[in-house]
Order: sequence, then structure tokens, then C-alpha cells
Amino acid sequence: MIRIAVTGAAGRMGKTLIEAVANHPALTLTVALERPDSSLINADAGELAGLGRNGIAVSGDLAAAVDKFDVLIDFTVPASSVSNAELCAAFGKGLVLGTTGFDDEQKRRIAAAAEQTAICQASNFSTGVNLCFKLLDMAARVLGDDVDIEIYEAHHRHKVDAPSGTALSMGEVVADALGRNLGDVAVYGREGITGARDRSTIGFATVRAGDIVGDHTVMFAADGERVEISHKASSRMSFARGAVRAAHWLADKSSGRFDMQDVLGLK
Ligand code: NAD
Repeated sequence: MIRIAVTGAAGRMGKTLIEAVANHPALTLTVALERPDSSLINADAGELAGLGRNGIAVSGDLAAAVDKFDVLIDFTVPASSVSNAELCAAFGKGLVLGTTGFDDEQKRRIAAAAEQTAICQASNFSTGVNLCFKLLDMAARVLGDDVDIEIYEAHHRHKVDAPSGTALSMGEVVADALGRNLGDVAVYGREGITGARDRSTIGFATVRAGDIVGDHTVMFAADGERVEISHKASSRMSFARGAVRAAHWLADKSSGRFDMQDVLGLK
């Protein structure tokens, strides 16, 4: 059995990940972590996830648990994920990284950690979204520079970063296929007298409302027709199932930077 640590165990994704690990025949949860100052330290991780007791007490110290797991699954906050990546690198532990919202310096530190250990990082671990990335690459290449491209995303009211990491990844896939640099062509929202649309731009629109798990649509609009590629997540289990699949896939890799396209064999 591959021994799994889940950090952010009390979070929306953490609880779902604990359930997904429990449902995977080749994985076993051996470590559950939360913020060291969390009131849930020492709580039973199975109970926390609504599964009944599993005997794994939530801990606040990843370094103290390094002998107890093979792969860490981390869906928390950027600062914590970066230090966890460096700890996994130092001890040769695999890392499945789902946190979003990293700045450039944090991305650089994660890339450096991946030189020493295997890291699978994805802004979205769902199989359907990763299929969409492939479809978007195809659509952008076929439709080329003759269309206006707009990306719409909607998430629950608690989400702290915008646009979503998935929307940005979709923008990168489309921009790469068209030979554009997303940093140069992205337009994040519009207001006032904006002038006519520049066709080379890629627009983003963000909605935050209620309990929306995650909606994404990329629109390729020409005169006379438009193509829309949409994905709608209705349960966090879609991300958690992908993440545990990635943990299983990653377990025999010693170093390198991977994403869900590698796990699904879509490259
Ligand atoms: P959440 O706020 O419900 O959970 C985050 C958890 O991390 C909290 O319980 C918090 O206490 C814990 N945490 C914070 N600092 C910690 C630390 N130092 N050590 C241990 N635990 C710590 O958030 P969420 O909705 O579960 O999302 C978490 C992250 O995952 C976000 O960045 C979100 O965008 C991302 N996410 C990614 C995917 C994907 O497929 N890649 C899917 C959903 C969410």
C-alpha cells in the first residue's frame, strides 16, 4: 500500500481527499495535518471527514511525520504549500499539489523542489477539465486568429483568488497554441469606456456566488458562429479522485515536475 499524508485535512478539499483515499484500493491514509494552531489538532481524521473513526490523529507538524508517508497531498494555501514542497524535496517524498494562487517567487521555489523530488501540480485535478485542456488546444489551433476568445469562470463565495487557477491554465493553453504570451494579452475584467475589442486579447470574467463548485467556459466567437467549451464541476470529489489517481501514479517517480496531463497520458 502507498502511504498518503493529507494536509489541510479540515478544509473543503482536505475532507474530500480523506474520503477519496479511503475509497482507493492501493492507498492508505497514514498522516493528516492541519495548521499548528488549529483547534482540530488531535481530532480523528476519519471523523473529521464524516467517515467514522480511522485512528489517524490530526497533527500540526509535517517534519515530525516524514517517516510515516510516501506521498503528500496538499490543497491548502500557497505559503504552506511552498514550505511543504521544500520539505518533501529534502526527504524525497512525492507531492501532489492542488493549491492555487502562487506568485512568481513561490512558483520558482516549487520548480526547484521538483529537481529533487517528484511533484504533480495541477490547477485542476478533474479528468473532465484535463480533457477540456486538450480540446481547447485543438480548438485554438483550428480557429486561430479569426475569433475573439473569452474565458468565464464561476466559483463559491469562499474562494480567495481570481481568476481561478483553472481559468488561467485554460488561458495559457489557448495562448500557447496561438503563439501568444498570456501575460501580454490577458484582460482581467472591463469597466467604463473600454474602446473596441482587440482581437489578440484573451478576456477573463469572474463570478463568485453561493456554493458553485467550479464552472468554466471558453468562448471562441467569430462573425456568424461561436464555439464554447464548458466544464461544470458538481462535487469536489471530481478533484479529489484525480488527486489520489495522481498520488498513485507518482509513487514510483523519483523526481521531476508533472501535471494531470501526464497522469492521464494526454501528452
Ligand atoms: P479551505 O480553506 O476549505 O481549506 C484549506 C485548509 O488548509 C484549511 O483547513 C486550513 O486550515 C488549512 N491550512 C492552512 N494553512 C495550513 C498549514 N500551514 N498547514 C496545514 N493546513 C493548513 O480551501 P479549499 O476550498 O479546500 O481549497 C484549498 C486550495 O485548493 C485552494 O488554493 C483552492 O484554490 C485549491 N483547489 C484546487 C483544486 C484543484 O483541482 N487543483 C480544486 C479545488 C480547490
